[in-house]
Amino acid sequence: MIDFIDLSKTYSNGTRALSHVDLHIDDGEFVFIVGASGAGKSTFLKIIMREEVPSSGRVVIDGVELNGLKARKVPYYRRKLGIVFQDFRLIPTKTVYENVAFAMHVIGAKQKEISRRVPYALSLVGLSVKAKCLPNELSGGEQQRVALARALVNHADIIIADEPTGNIDPEMSRDIVDLLTQINQNNKTTVIMVTHEVDLIQQYNKRIVTIRNGTVVSDTAHPDIVADEAAMEEPIKTAPSGYYYAPSEDEEIEQFLQTYGSQEQPDEARETGDISFAAAARSAQSDE
Ligand code: ADP
Repeated sequence: MIDFIDLSKTYSNGTRALSHVDLHIDDGEFVFIVGASGAGKSTFLKIIMREEVPSSGRVVIDGVELNGLKARKVPYYRRKLGIVFQDFRLIPTKTVYENVAFAMHVIGAKQKEISRRVPYALSLVGLSVKAKCLPNELSGGEQQRVALARALVNHADIIIADEPTGNIDPEMSRDIVDLLTQINQNNKTTVIMVTHEVDLIQQYNKRIVTIRNGTVVSDTAHPDIVADEAAMEEPIKTAPSGYYYAPSEDEEIEQFLQTYGSQEQPDEARETGDISFAAAARSAQSDE
């Protein structure tokens, strides 16, 4: 369950990105978040990811008050989340299989569990046959499916997809939303998808939350309503459409570790004697 309670966010330069947002998302819901560039969509996701904290008001996710969450607990909290970005963020030197397995290594999963879960996650996104390929051997749509497999391999409760179709061909975009729908329905995973693409949204009958100037201006299951929001610009592409975006390997690994890994073991892991996340991540990097 996700609750934004009278939440506002003003950045240090005085920009008010969110203003008095009250929003409730139930477990297992699928919600599109739409709005023009600068409306506050990324800030909304960053608050859920605990990359930003509200200036006032509260956010409660599955009973966790994010305002009071200690910094060392943040990577552990984020394991509830599977995050999919517009630019895929795959590690270019790892195969499809290794990219998905890496997400499990980082959180200290056992080898046996990795060998079981990774093929399953790849089969869910229809990429079993590409397990040994490198990201640059895949189309944009396929790379995004790998990112989706990586997001769901650790049993995330909530999938956060930030413009997941922004860098892929329009005909592939539907595949990604269909897959997200399937994950949402089969696993009861909550899905929150930010998008500019009104045409795409209108093909589905799902909840649509529209943000304008930091305020929720509509919250409806009726796709016609967002036609008014057609002023939304095209998403800014961070990579050439359809094909390979070349990230730096170190940057991708570092970002992943900062998000989900931690030197500090959460109490739960300590009790069960799980290996340290940092050690797991180091061993994951030297696995090949
Ligand atoms: P969207 O994702 O809908 O494009 P954002 O949440 O990125 O919108 O931005 C909302 C507003 O907050 C914009 O005016 C943007 O310029 C501003 N903003 C976003 N991030 C920062 C930041 N780190 N510092 C200052 N202003 C920011």
